[in-house]
Amino acid sequence: MPVNKEAYHQLKTESDSKAVTLVAVSKTKPVEDILALYELGHRDFGENYVQEMLDKASRLPKDIRWHFIGHLQSNKIKLIVPFVQLIHGVDSLKLLKAIDKEGNKQGRVIDCLLQVHIADEETKFGFDETELQEAINEAAGLENIRIKGLMGMASFTDDFKKVRKEFRRLKELFDAYPNLQTLSMGMSSDYRIALEEGTTMLRIGSLLLGERSPQG
Ligand SMILES: *Cc1c(COP(=O)(O)O)cnc(C)c1O
Repeated sequence: MPVNKEAYHQLKTESDSKAVTLVAVSKTKPVEDILALYELGHRDFGENYVQEMLDKASRLPKDIRWHFIGHLQSNKIKLIVPFVQLIHGVDSLKLLKAIDKEGNKQGRVIDCLLQVHIADEETKFGFDETELQEAINEAAGLENIRIKGLMGMASFTDDFKKVRKEFRRLKELFDAYPNLQTLSMGMSSDYRIALEEGTTMLRIGSLLLGERSPQG
């Protein structure tokens, strides 16, 4: 399916009006789709798989800002450190320290978001409130990472009241740390709620680029 330009322009207008950054999630989609959005002026793209992000980055313009939004394995950190714009889903102290170490080795300071567990589902990664405080304290001592903010994913449900409640809780946590600038919350199905609840960064895939195959 081609890029949905109409959806793009609408999303862009809605995000811009609230100074929200729109990240186009391009996982499993071909470089042609990314280029189509690039030609409309878009620069922020999100990928979930390291190898896929590397392949795409090597074939696409260098001024694209690559956001890593997947579950990052320690042994792959070194591959994205040279160019990644922002790592969204840092969900353990161990991972945070490993990113810092690799950043130090490669002489870069890596911007990270800490993932907070806001959904009911067992399967979603992230810190709880206590762990979050701990991670933020620890991070203050690490020189090659910078905690820019928080990221969260709401429960996968069409109960929008529930989604709103989860986003609201994440926003409250975010507000409790005035030094943080970025709140990454909201996907295709729930971005309007996220906008209403004070997101600063949306991660939008299917609405812009069409549905993915089930494993994507
Ligand atoms: C795939 C993905 C998205 C985009 O999901 P859509 O529902 O297609 O908008 C956003 N965030 C994360 C972490 C993802 O893995």
